[in-house]
Amino acid sequence: MSRYLGDAWALPYLDPQIRPFFSSGVIRIQVCRSCDAPQHPPDDVCHACQGTEFSHRDSAGLGTVHSFIIVHHPVHPALTERVPYAVALITLDDMPQIRVCGNIVDAAPEAVSIGQPVRATFEEIHDAETGEDLTIPQWETLTG
Ligand SMILES: [Zn+2]
Repeated sequence: MSRYLGDAWALPYLDPQIRPFFSSGVIRIQVCRSCDAPQHPPDDVCHACQGTEFSHRDSAGLGTVHSFIIVHHPVHPALTERVPYAVALITLDDMPQIRVCGNIVDAAPEAVSIGQPVRATFEEIHDAETGEDLTIPQWETLTG
């Protein structure tokens, strides 16, 4: 399966904090064990209470477009054939304090709008360089 941004585009580097987000096949969000606050992107320290122990909570993967941009200029030669494409900031329905970034992969960029309902979909990729199996979150539009 060809990747949305092209097979030559960079894959994320997985540190221990972000690995669950890019490898679990669900929208997995870091949650502080001390104060139960979710945060994304994950960090070594809780932004609410400065706690340093975390677990994770899985979102149902439904959300709303909070904002988006349409990329027209390929910032890297690997993206030359991909532009234009939409990059959206998604508010999760079941964790409204959390926003995650991703591409809208099933609609023309000019069809994306703020407030649009979306659901997560995942690109399954084997990173030959690191040996990691990745599930890259992307988003597709919902009607109604
Ligand atoms: Zn906390």
